[in-house]
Amino acid sequence: MKRALVAIVGADNVLDSESDLEPYREDYCEADPVDPSFVVFARTTEEVQVIVKLCASGRTPITPRVAGSNVGGLALPAPGGIVLDLSRMNRIVSVDTADMYAVIEPGVTQADLKRHLLERDIPLTFGFSLAPPDTSVLANCLLGGLTNRSLKYGDQSQWVSGLEVVLPDGSLVRTGSWALSDSAFGLVPFPDVSGMFIGWQGATGITTRMAFQLWPRHRLNKRLFVLTYSAHGTFEAVRRLCRTELCDDIGGLSWPSAKMMMGVKNPYPEPATGEPTFFLYVDLTAETAAEMALKEGVLEQILADIHRKGDRVEEPLDVATLLRVNPALGAFAEFPVELEFLTNHGGGGLTWIGTYGPLSRFEDGIAAGTEIMVRRGFPPLIVTRPMRGGHYGVLRFVAIFDRKSPEEVARIRELNVELLEMVTDKGFVMYKTPPWAWEKLRGRIDPGMLELMRRMKRLVDPLGIMNPGKLGF
Ligand SMILES: Cc1cc2nc3c(=O)[nH]c(=O)nc-3n(C[C@H](O)[C@H](O)[C@H](O)COP(=O)(O)OP(=O)(O)OC[C@H]3O[C@@H](n4cnc5c(N)ncnc54)[C@H](O)[C@@H]3O)c2cc1C
Repeated sequence: MKRALVAIVGADNVLDSESDLEPYREDYCEADPVDPSFVVFARTTEEVQVIVKLCASGRTPITPRVAGSNVGGLALPAPGGIVLDLSRMNRIVSVDTADMYAVIEPGVTQADLKRHLLERDIPLTFGFSLAPPDTSVLANCLLGGLTNRSLKYGDQSQWVSGLEVVLPDGSLVRTGSWALSDSAFGLVPFPDVSGMFIGWQGATGITTRMAFQLWPRHRLNKRLFVLTYSAHGTFEAVRRLCRTELCDDIGGLSWPSAKMMMGVKNPYPEPATGEPTFFLYVDLTAETAAEMALKEGVLEQILADIHRKGDRVEEPLDVATLLRVNPALGAFAEFPVELEFLTNHGGGGLTWIGTYGPLSRFEDGIAAGTEIMVRRGFPPLIVTRPMRGGHYGVLRFVAIFDRKSPEEVARIRELNVELLEMVTDKGFVMYKTPPWAWEKLRGRIDPGMLELMRRMKRLVDPLGIMNPGKLGF
């Protein structure tokens, strides 16, 4: 196998020593480590095709991966399988400024694409997740991830306007308008077979290029911070702001998350009296000062009205004021960001139950999740965001832990099971679903849907070599 891989990509692009394979055995989360047999770097679509054909001939499992920061064990190899590292396939193939889309390869990171657009003064932007700057834009689109443009434009899979995919037999397919036109303007009007590759966690093919929509970058932008003192006040503000259609993003973090960002090791279970419950960050953009002033005015009016009706909320602070309060909160001034309190805290472990669900049930979900986390001795780190105009939202319960402590890993697993059951009972749906959660959810998902997924997977990947074990069947 090694000789054949080296013949395809060269010796520098095949790893098999214990120390080189080490970073690929595990990710941030509590999943058990798995050793790959090889890690292979591909640089072109043609190389990916030949590697896939080779794996098919030997029935060797392949797991595509870029940064491995999905927090669910989704890019861990299958036993005996290879990891196909796509981080060196990192060309920004084109940016179509007139029709507002880009064509990129899998290894293009959030930081790369931002730099590319700014350096060329292209008046377009995209959304940033709270993931580290080196995570893949393409992978987050395939996983239906969320960014600071998701309130306006939905999860990132909804921005995809065409895919180029290597199928598990090594053949190549182009989806969307790209299948016929030289312009990858959208997925319409053909049947949307891109859905065959979105949300499948690399189990149906390897996407080698993606066209996706960019959005206008306005001349003025402002990020404002609002301290709130009750869950009801927080989400009443969020819901009302959504209906104004004036905000680009409204992120909501529980106050213990802010305290950890400010360096407090364990901000619970004793919150000081008078502390906020949440802080919101609200992004506004505008073409003129008058437009910005109008948006700020509406925001202030809504907050004042909620305050008057009995839920304490403070007046918005701008970034400069926030930095005076505590420079550590400056992490939120500019995206993408490395949230060191989550990724670099010494213990190495980061996990979450991240869900999409109805905004009308947020207070209920947050009360139940806070109770579970505090009872089990974890600070209630909660991240929220309304999506797609407020039709739904993100509710995520986050925990950090010491990966080297078996007791702590066991506690984390129990915490996540209880949180998963609670959120599912309340109608929330976990995203970037890890294998253990599929096991728990299998009996609850519509059996017709599960059977159809199974048949589609068998149709496209009859040998079962593509990222096996990640979808619960
Ligand atoms: C601190 C922190 C904060 C985060 N905040 C957010 C957030 O705000 N919003 C959000 O959405 N996510 C967030 N994430 C999650 C994470 O960063 C994303 O899931 C990320 O986009 C995955 O990119 P990656 O490069 O790490 O992909 P990987 O983890 O390497 O891969 C993810 C999955 O995609 C598959 N895959 C990768 N490339 C391909 C390909 N070319 N073709 C087919 N399948 C492929 C892999 O097999 C795997 O199943 C956060 C993560 C961290 C650590």
